[in-house]
Amino acid sequence: MTSTSREKICDLVIKELPMALFIVDDRLRIIEFNAAAEEITGWPRKEALGRRCADVLASSLCTEQCPLRESVENGRVCRERDALIRTRSGQKKAIILSSVALADGDGALEYGIELFRDATAIKKLETQKKNLISLFTHDLKVPVAIAGGFLDRLLQGKAGPLNDKQVRYLESIRREIRRLEGYILSFLDIARIESGRLELHVEPYDLGPLLREIVEGFKVQAAKKRIRLSLHLPPSLPTVAIDALQMNRVISNLIDNAIKYSYEGGSVEVIVHEGEGGPVVEIRDEGPGIAPEEQEHIFDSFYRIPENGAGHVAGTGLGLAAVKAIVEAHGGKVRLASEPGRGSSFMVMLPRAAESRKENGPDR
Ligand code: ADP
Repeated sequence: MTSTSREKICDLVIKELPMALFIVDDRLRIIEFNAAAEEITGWPRKEALGRRCADVLASSLCTEQCPLRESVENGRVCRERDALIRTRSGQKKAIILSSVALADGDGALEYGIELFRDATAIKKLETQKKNLISLFTHDLKVPVAIAGGFLDRLLQGKAGPLNDKQVRYLESIRREIRRLEGYILSFLDIARIESGRLELHVEPYDLGPLLREIVEGFKVQAAKKRIRLSLHLPPSLPTVAIDALQMNRVISNLIDNAIKYSYEGGSVEVIVHEGEGGPVVEIRDEGPGIAPEEQEHIFDSFYRIPENGAGHVAGTGLGLAAVKAIVEAHGGKVRLASEPGRGSSFMVMLPRAAESRKENGPDR
């Protein structure tokens, strides 16, 4: 390629790049300014050329921690910085900016390249997400919990005797409300973990009684699909440091999925064995399995594999994301071993709480 054609290509790239770009010289004066930069800043190229970049962007970054100076100092690209600029008409605008500096032989700035894009839409989405979380936290969670409480009272006969049909109907409503509560909690956990706000109340705990209670609670659901649900505990288990309520949700989510996605008449086993760093709780099913290309996605929020399992199975795609988030917040890991047509094994690897081992005594 001749140097003239290389220059032509570079000019074209700068001009047509769907991202704002400008180049500055050693005195931070703008020597190149593309069309996308004109659009975002409101500065026409002709007027921007020759000005100091801080005068054009008027960003807080320019005075506080100029990314170009940082790039010169550490010799690296400054990636994806959030910044607020002031456009030519004085309007504030959120941008995401990356910078790279070329230094001369003495390590001083020779040229700097700034690439940025308008972050208004992203900021708007972030605000919407915050509003949605607050909607779930206050406006949905509370009324659902209150409705559940009143249903319990009705079912306990506190508003008078009920006939069998009424009990059946109310129990169905209660089940659906529990499911809704589960979705809301999963959503909130993921949001809290993403923003580093999930508080765990960790205590040393015996896994045996917790697992027995959870498995017992799923017996009816499993029996409806003629699924054999069994728990296999080793003779002794180390104590684990867990938030029992959250861990209950993790194991319950995995057993619920194992039953939900299994075919009628299959088997679901909950097996505890000793791993390298601590106990491993494995939930193994004989369901449809999960294809290798799906395995890396199923822990993402809202990700679902359409029509996996026995026909249409209702869900939100939040369960496994919450499982992963909660287990990782405990310092543990979740692993999946699965082959399509041969079932799935989800393994929850928990860190050991202390070296003390407890015999598997009676339930608490
Ligand atoms: P949901 O069950 O609400 O769809 P999850 O996050 O719990 O959401 O699961 C994500 C997806 O992973 C499910 O839609 C399903 O396709 C797949 N999946 C989860 N557990 C199993 C399982 N035990 N067997 C087969 N597929 C599963």
